[in-house]
Amino acid sequence: MSTIESTRSFHTLELDASIMQTLKQQQFHIPTPVQSEAIPLVLSGRDVLASAQTGSGKTAAFALPIIHQITAEPRKPQPGRPKALVLAPTRELAGQIAEVFELFSRNLRVSTAVIFGGVGKGAQVTAMRRGVDVVVATPGRLLDLMQEGVISLDHVQTVVLDEADRMLDMGFIPDVRRVIAKLPAQRQSLFFSATLPPQVVELSRALLTDPARIAVETNETTRPQIDQSVMFVNRQDKRDALRTLLTEKGSYRALVFTRTKHRARDLAKYLNKNGITADDLQGNKSQNARIRALAGFHSGDIQVLVATDIASRGIDVDDIDHVINFELPNEPESYVHRIGRTARAGKAGIAVSFCDESEIEHLAEIERAIEQSVPVITNHRYHAKAVADAALAYTSRRNGGSQRSAPATHAARRPGTRAGESGRGGGSQRPRSRRRSSRAR
Ligand code: AMP
Repeated sequence: MSTIESTRSFHTLELDASIMQTLKQQQFHIPTPVQSEAIPLVLSGRDVLASAQTGSGKTAAFALPIIHQITAEPRKPQPGRPKALVLAPTRELAGQIAEVFELFSRNLRVSTAVIFGGVGKGAQVTAMRRGVDVVVATPGRLLDLMQEGVISLDHVQTVVLDEADRMLDMGFIPDVRRVIAKLPAQRQSLFFSATLPPQVVELSRALLTDPARIAVETNETTRPQIDQSVMFVNRQDKRDALRTLLTEKGSYRALVFTRTKHRARDLAKYLNKNGITADDLQGNKSQNARIRALAGFHSGDIQVLVATDIASRGIDVDDIDHVINFELPNEPESYVHRIGRTARAGKAGIAVSFCDESEIEHLAEIERAIEQSVPVITNHRYHAKAVADAALAYTSRRNGGSQRSAPATHAARRPGTRAGESGRGGGSQRPRSRRRSSRAR
């Protein structure tokens, strides 16, 4: 594996001049670690297995060398026979990947089309008949169009599987395998996943041949520039606590997570009624309404986007200053994905989680998985001491029954802990758990 230090500038990567110009315009001055490692490997024709998270710059890591390769070989694409295929788990992510391809291939004769379900097929079929170089697709609609004979994969030279672990979460692995079965044997394959649970490793074996391995963030479960904290609150106070938090923190772009679609919708309504512009992004919304919500969030017309986990995948909005877990996810991995939506591209971000009595167990699982205890904010008006005490008691039970006592004055400040925050129960710091969560994959 090459080292991260190996490439400090895009110039050494010898990409097409037009790509270099767009990099400059976009103010991409230095390649991110995944870009430094992946771009030369892809250009050399190797298969790649990369564990890289959203926010690491992984999209450009595969898009730039693919565009470069297609430009170097100016044969026009045949109708319905793309040269490169990118598979993504959600429509939003597919759309965003296609935008990156389009951005970096402007002034070049490289065309891109995006294919996803939930919308009419007409425009997608027309694009395929015209012929495009790059297709970015979600697996279900791609299979539909393959079955209808609108698209064939026999000219695919490079295939990318993006966010493979999310494909697994969303039950898409059988569809992905069906797509893989239709790819030509002679091809280059690139595999990106934030995490590598066993089923994902197994899938990578079906796709890749002698891959180069890139792991740029293996030692970081969460990125350090995210300032995480938890507020213990009573369930009925959560909405007021959220409104107050958004107002007091002066957040201008916040992503709020709920567990259910209905809660997302109701919460967005509540915020709007209370003078905070908000929209919701959840599975019951039509594709057009989702696009509108994302566009409003992008442009800054709406300050708060309330989302569920699945709908939020692939939101690629920079400058999200707050991620707020209105409800904690019961999967620690979702927590990591959620808070990874802030602090992108090297910027700082804040992640605040509300925890009511019913969520104490989820919090404990998350803390085990991320191997750190999340600092508690106690100096706010909705702080529920009873919930904080219950959390402390729960942790003590899990740690073997002995309740650690610490004097209230001994609220050691750790990195990332702000004034007014302290360890569990408003006074004591819990030991950092080094055990992996049984539920963490
Ligand atoms: P990704 O992980 O591909 O979703 O990228 C995360 C964000 O980082 C996107 O907003 C990109 O525009 C931005 N980005 C990617 N590569 C670079 C780079 N080399 N320099 C600055 N920003 C970048």
